[in-house]
Amino acid sequence: MSEAQVPEAGTLLKVRGLTKYFGSFAACNGIDLSIAPGEIHALLGENGAGKSTLVKMLFGVLQPSEGQIVWQGKPAVIGSPGEARALGVGMVFQHFSLFEALTVAENIALSLDPKIPLAKIAEEAKNLSRDYGLPLDPNAHVADLSVGERQRIEIVRALLQNPKLIILDEPTSVLTPQEADRLFETLFKLKAEGRSVLYISHRLEEVQRICDRATVLRHGKVTGACDPRRETPASLARMMVGSDVAGVERASDTPLGDVLVSVKDLAVPARTPFAVTLSGISMQVRAGEIVAIAGVAGNGQGELFDALSGEVTVPQDDAIEICGRPVGRTGINGRRLLGAGFVPEERHGHAAVSDMALSDNLLLSRSTSDRKAFLSGGVFNVIRHDVIRSIAKRICGEMDVRKSGDDPAAGSLSGGNLQKFIIGRELDRKPQVLIVNQPTWGVDAGAASRIRQALIDLARAGSAVVVISQDLDEIFEVATSIAVISEGRMSRPYAAGELTLEKIGLLMGGIHDSTSPREAVHAH
Ligand code: ADP
Ligand code: MG
Repeated sequence: MSEAQVPEAGTLLKVRGLTKYFGSFAACNGIDLSIAPGEIHALLGENGAGKSTLVKMLFGVLQPSEGQIVWQGKPAVIGSPGEARALGVGMVFQHFSLFEALTVAENIALSLDPKIPLAKIAEEAKNLSRDYGLPLDPNAHVADLSVGERQRIEIVRALLQNPKLIILDEPTSVLTPQEADRLFETLFKLKAEGRSVLYISHRLEEVQRICDRATVLRHGKVTGACDPRRETPASLARMMVGSDVAGVERASDTPLGDVLVSVKDLAVPARTPFAVTLSGISMQVRAGEIVAIAGVAGNGQGELFDALSGEVTVPQDDAIEICGRPVGRTGINGRRLLGAGFVPEERHGHAAVSDMALSDNLLLSRSTSDRKAFLSGGVFNVIRHDVIRSIAKRICGEMDVRKSGDDPAAGSLSGGNLQKFIIGRELDRKPQVLIVNQPTWGVDAGAASRIRQALIDLARAGSAVVVISQDLDEIFEVATSIAVISEGRMSRPYAAGELTLEKIGLLMGGIHDSTSPREAVHAH
């Protein structure tokens, strides 16, 4: 298929044969693409397809190995993000580049002329955030903000430069449906002003909803260009993956065994003024069961994960039991020793050390007793790097982790592939208990179904699994029971078949069994 034709005169950006090598590996390989003024152009592709690499070249973060970028009819060399901004290109990254200790306005100031007074920046940011429907307090500290709010900072920061083209790298993978809708309003406003948007996503429904054209990448090459509204999700998925995406298969008849996770009236005070206080949280998870915890972002999911994993301990030892043992006061390593595995939400720097090879990351995640298998024993007790590498290789094979090289640094993997590796790493230990927060955050359809299947298979083999997720489709796909968290309180788990989307929506709005329904919940 060739690129959809756009008249030359109406082209804002044109890319010809753009190629980027990492060593001998071509992450982008001869890419052709053109973007018209005032269009929302989707860049589609599964994890590792080369989307982020392509837009980093357009924003001057990476230099192309080959090919040409033509901006408003003139060949352009974009040497740095500063040069990109000067041309009129703004970018909202997949992994935010914000300093947590600084305020919103201070973060924005970092990418602007240092002579502009901070008060003026705060003022302009406030106006822009109001005009574009992106509520933001310029004086708030980034550390206290939710992911959605952090993204708004990046968008406002990009808008302050009055860009002609705004690139968003997987923006909705961190947003609730409501936040995503609000973002789409912003994008339509930008379009109406004649600005162009390059919108990276793997969510086919939203691409069909908001994008005028789509370019599809696979293995670094353009595999199709189309009007997404004339395609079906299945035909788009086929262009992305090259074949049909496997559905997730579940066993409804898994017998439930012993209670492996028990939470009784768990309370955790907020650690910062903006964190959520958890109170009265109770649940039991049996062997063979997947309890999914639904909720709108920022209602205590992160705090609950920290408490369940032992990242944060509580004084009441029996508030949490894992495999029958009270662990409230036990830290994360002690809980791992009992047979629990944990996958946090924030992968870079939390679940994996970016600069280290996959095999070294594997070694790091193992508790002392697990590590014995990696030691040669005897007088010269040395680390068996060959064993570790072969396990890392097995995990990559089982989870279909796409990477460049045999044992690359974790940071070189695309987000979805790193997530497959991290989940595979935890599953490889065959944990009795697995607790995951947002397992398919920023992950494409193919990788997501693989991860979900792996969670189901683990439960089927007799483990107890807790999945904290904002994605209701995911929740219905994997859960045997569903609980809803709202403002730090959690509903009881319901059998998955017992709950409708509407009921979950009501629980998300904070209505629990004990209270009577209010009309106003949908207004939240
Ligand atoms: P996408 O954004 O479509 O998920 P990326 O552009 O992030 O994909 O990555 C494309 C491929 O290039 C992946 O296989 C990834 O591992 C590889 N890659 C990306 N950045 C680097 C890097 N700095 N060094 C080596 N390989 C990289
Ligand atoms: Mg990417």
